[in-house]
Amino acid sequence: SPAQPISNRSLLEMDRDHLIHPVTSFRAHESRGATILQSGDGMWLTDIDGNRVLDAFAGLWCVNVGYGQESIVEAAVEQMRRLPYATGYFHFGSEPAIRLAEKLVSLTPEGLNHVFFTLGGSDAVDSAIRYITHYWNAVGQPSRKQFIALERGYHGSSTTGSGLTALANFHRNFDVPLKWQHHIPSPYGYRSDAADDAELIAQSVGHLKTKVAQLGNENVAAFFCEPIQGSGGVVVPPKGWLKAMRDCCTDLGILFVADEVITGFGRTGPLFACEAEGVSPDLMTLAKGLTAGYAPMGALMMSDKVYHGIADGASPDLAIGHGLTYSGHPVSAAIGLEVLRLYLDGGILANGQSVSAKFETGLAALSDHPLVGDTRGRGMLGAIELVADKASKARFAPELKLADRLFAAGYGNGVIFRAFADNIIGLAPALCCSDDEMEMIFARIRKTLDGLL
Ligand code: PLP
Repeated sequence: SPAQPISNRSLLEMDRDHLIHPVTSFRAHESRGATILQSGDGMWLTDIDGNRVLDAFAGLWCVNVGYGQESIVEAAVEQMRRLPYATGYFHFGSEPAIRLAEKLVSLTPEGLNHVFFTLGGSDAVDSAIRYITHYWNAVGQPSRKQFIALERGYHGSSTTGSGLTALANFHRNFDVPLKWQHHIPSPYGYRSDAADDAELIAQSVGHLKTKVAQLGNENVAAFFCEPIQGSGGVVVPPKGWLKAMRDCCTDLGILFVADEVITGFGRTGPLFACEAEGVSPDLMTLAKGLTAGYAPMGALMMSDKVYHGIADGASPDLAIGHGLTYSGHPVSAAIGLEVLRLYLDGGILANGQSVSAKFETGLAALSDHPLVGDTRGRGMLGAIELVADKASKARFAPELKLADRLFAAGYGNGVIFRAFADNIIGLAPALCCSDDEMEMIFARIRKTLDGLL
């Protein structure tokens, strides 16, 4: 039973024998074993061996308010006592879900006036795909069934979302993308041939127009993108890119979906990345920072246009058949409300905006390192791209398994970051990070890189 003490060794054996880990090689995990985390406070995590490490990745880009926020625990316990569950089916509702929906509408870009709650990002994306399909049928344009997304994009692991994702290991042996899912090149400045930002933006717009023309405009449903690509290696498009892509979708008459699962909730500076460019998408997906990892929850924000299209096209006698048992879960919603309070009234958003100057300086200072080809970031989201040769930007040979070594060395030096397969270090510290902790993060990363020389 969980109440009985258990040895670290038994835990490791039970993990190896029974627990399937996400995005992990089963065989590699059996031989390596798990790193089992025990507790967290602020920016720090402690594992079962007593190692205390600085988490520069906010769990999985989600614990934006840091660990151990007591007021969130209290909000959860209070709600669990009063009403642990209420379905949204059969016209039922609960106060936290309704209040969170209203709050999100007031904070997200104008026009996104309706919310469907999910359990995370993957089902928010999947819900977007389902509602978009429903929308085009409802408004009498049933030929619009082709979806376009970006290379290097990540839109989750659902059966349909994983095909919009464009990362090879999410496709290998899974038989996606599906035939109606298409990708255009990513606005990856460091590895593009564009002379400047304006050309990179023009190239992206050109790729989208060409793809839509190839598919036939009358067949295209929507374009999905992350305002800054996260799992694809933190690809930061130039300022103006998001607006240009939004405007292009408007001109083409296709829906524009912003996947702000990572970029939402202060990660890039403003509350939402769309805000920085005055962009209002037709749909927006949210998760992660919404509950800051304290409970699972995602949200699909829907514009009036899509909502009314679906509403008016459906018979009032027939239910629109999309739902989740835990949509609008009251405990997650109560947590979401408290997390939003901490961002806005608890000073965490403002702290993130202020410490991001140190984050930027820390990133830029690493560009002189012999292994570093590129550093990039916005707000509290960043990347350090390692190369075998700075001049040619050549990548390290995959056989070196540098990413695994990097991650292990970082952990040994007391810092957790993401080490992507193509040797890009991803960073997303919690927005509650102090200046001192930020300095510590970069000192430990430099030590880790020096150790690889
Ligand atoms: N969309 C984006 C942009 C993401 O980064 C992620 C997860 O990292 C997802 C969707 C999927 O979210 P989840 O893992 O909560 O299902």
